[in-house]
Amino acid sequence: MNPKEEFLEKSSLKAADITHRNKLRFNISKYLAGVEEGKKQYTDLELARRKAHAVKWKTIESLDNYLMEFERNFLRNGGQILWAKDAEEARNLILGIIEKHNGRTVVKSKSMATEEIELNDALEAKGIEVSETDLGEFIVQLAGEKPYHIVTPAMHKSKEDVAQLFHEKLGTPEDNTPEQLTMAAREALREKYIRADIGITGANFIVADVGGIAITENEGNARLSTTFPKVHIALAGIERVLPSIHDLALFWPLLATYGTGQKLTVYNTLFTGPAKDSEAGGPEEMYVILMDNGRSDILADVQLRQVMHCIRCGACLNVCPVYKTIGGHTYGQTYSGPIGSVISPHFAGKEKAGHLSFASSLCGACTETCPVKIDLHNLLLYNRNLLNNDGYAGSMEKRVWKWWRKAMLKRSLMNMASGKMKNYMFKKIFAKSWGKDRDAIIFPNTSFNQQWKKQHGKAS
Ligand code: SF4
Repeated sequence: MNPKEEFLEKSSLKAADITHRNKLRFNISKYLAGVEEGKKQYTDLELARRKAHAVKWKTIESLDNYLMEFERNFLRNGGQILWAKDAEEARNLILGIIEKHNGRTVVKSKSMATEEIELNDALEAKGIEVSETDLGEFIVQLAGEKPYHIVTPAMHKSKEDVAQLFHEKLGTPEDNTPEQLTMAAREALREKYIRADIGITGANFIVADVGGIAITENEGNARLSTTFPKVHIALAGIERVLPSIHDLALFWPLLATYGTGQKLTVYNTLFTGPAKDSEAGGPEEMYVILMDNGRSDILADVQLRQVMHCIRCGACLNVCPVYKTIGGHTYGQTYSGPIGSVISPHFAGKEKAGHLSFASSLCGACTETCPVKIDLHNLLLYNRNLLNNDGYAGSMEKRVWKWWRKAMLKRSLMNMASGKMKNYMFKKIFAKSWGKDRDAIIFPNTSFNQQWKKQHGKAS
């Protein structure tokens, strides 16, 4: 099965899985209610979004300058900067640092960039123990799964699922409450923090003027992951830059509101290099790895460039009818939902992920919700155009659409095919993509136009 066929097969199964859909509906409804509350902190939300769009636009248009400014300032703070052109280089750099420090144990806070390079697999292959410390990530790691959502990795699990999982893996009672489950995870992780040689994080924002990385979280696990270990490695996509520390006043609340429905997440930390002499805790060495991995190609495309504004809040996933029907794992890529469907074909290649650009109803809900105003649904159309110009659509499909266009432009051609013929063609062409669980469209024997003519004696 090729990736597209696999996607269609899995989508069809997930769409018919009512239990899965109920869990998603429940979790997303709680999120949506929270977002409405979070938005109340703004007197002019639209202005905040427009400002955020403008700041990101300015940053991305001069990305090279801001990255160099960050590098200069971070080096001055005593940190070390490494540049990775792709996933392999990023993995090797991280492995190199860990080897240099004889690291055997790693604690990690939530980071989609590390998911993008499949870091855990690479570390485990070298015999390095990796522990995810974010509760959602801890749950999916325990279940042997990938994160399901950019912000809420275990969104597809109910509290009963988690209680069962903890019972099987950690030996806790099957009927533990969410509070008891959280305590069990905390208990399991406490010793990992203390033992860890290396702490790995992502970066929500790279702050150029102070030479620091900003991390936003709710559990304090990123702070713990960077306080105990002697070495802190942060992996960040090059697009995460903000020009100034002052921009955090706009972006931290915006990310919290759209990411989790909070006014501000509980812990917001700016890491500016290793611990100073005057500081009691913190790492002796801090590395920031600035990763390209396909981002420069996106940057080079003037129309597509705006996806680099993304702050990974996950809001577009939560409003997307496709995501809400098929769920995160079905996409088969690190980034799912509308933003994933736009960037994955460029990150993973058109063979692996090109079909995702077509996995959208183009309803525009993603564009409407995006806090930094990325024109997501039009970018999906743009991707489709790029792919088709690149020969993505097969000759059969092209012929069908050519014929379709001709027929749609000429009433006599449209009326030529009988209902029987239309039903036959529909089944033939959409046999796979329509899915088994949807009722097929039944075309009537005569078109509306023909019926009208019959009743009124003239064309409609
Ligand atoms: S595209 Fe917009 S809504 Fe989607 S994750 Fe990025 S910032 Fe959030």
